[in-house]
Amino acid sequence: MHPILTVGSVAFDSIKTPFGEASRVVGGAATYFSIAASFFTDVRLVAVVGDDFTEEQTQVFSGRRIDLTGLQRVPGETFRWKGEYSFDFNTRDTIYTHLNVFDQFRPVLPESYRPTPFVFLANIHPTLQSEVLDQVHEPRFVAADTMNFWIEGTPDELRKVLGRVDALVINDEEARELSGEANLVKAARAIQRMGPELLIIKRGEYGVLMTRDRGFFAAPAMPLEEVSDPTGAGDTFAGGFMGYLASAGEMTDTVVTRAIIAGSALASFAVEDFGLERLLRLTPDELQDRLAEFKRLTHFEAL
Ligand code: AMP
Repeated sequence: MHPILTVGSVAFDSIKTPFGEASRVVGGAATYFSIAASFFTDVRLVAVVGDDFTEEQTQVFSGRRIDLTGLQRVPGETFRWKGEYSFDFNTRDTIYTHLNVFDQFRPVLPESYRPTPFVFLANIHPTLQSEVLDQVHEPRFVAADTMNFWIEGTPDELRKVLGRVDALVINDEEARELSGEANLVKAARAIQRMGPELLIIKRGEYGVLMTRDRGFFAAPAMPLEEVSDPTGAGDTFAGGFMGYLASAGEMTDTVVTRAIIAGSALASFAVEDFGLERLLRLTPDELQDRLAEFKRLTHFEAL
């Protein structure tokens, strides 16, 4: 079992869906990632919050295998983001992104974090992702996420990060934007040429597509009767995926494909309630049951 280091946003999110609203709840890519990954292994978090982020709000991390030595608290306001979903949840408009304390943040890794073998560069400014990577001693496996905000706003910095990672976890719309290819297979090949050998494309309610040798591995999303809020599903998926990989320690085809299912199972919980609510209530037994459901969902006898 290996620990994972992650850098990314810890945020106050405001979320509007056709069925409800939440205002200024704790969110952020690194928050969802850490909570999900901590179901499988130890997580070392690198991020910054403002002095408006209370002790009580920090409780979302407590009682879990999440090391907060690298979570800085500085004067100023915490990162804030607001998103609004369409009727079928398949499109989301960003209403605002306020970087706030992330604007001036220069990460300095605690000494204890530097030898971490698994690294996940969650969604944040690509320069911050690079600065964290610079400080890790010879990581074994590095994966990254990003989003349209950075693809459009900081393309050169993002290209540099892509040249240094083993895997990229990205959604379908962003894969098309990053590669300039409408076809997802061509998009995947184009992104692989930018650096990451392993590409995982998140397709929301349609599941996940992962490159595998010369082909692909696909996993569906769990069909759910109640979906409340897809925010953080992608980061939760990444947390389950990386958490499982790091806990297994090896990168065989069986392990990597199981990691995809672990990520998909965790993500299926994340969407069942607003913000972090469902993940915070999730028990290891519930997770095991859903993994078994995934097996039933996808299993068939060879033709
Ligand atoms: P997802 O739904 O997986 O795309 O992730 C949503 C989470 O990402 C929210 O909790 C936001 O706080 C966070 N987020 C949104 N935009 C950004 C951004 N530009 N940089 C970093 N984190 C972001």
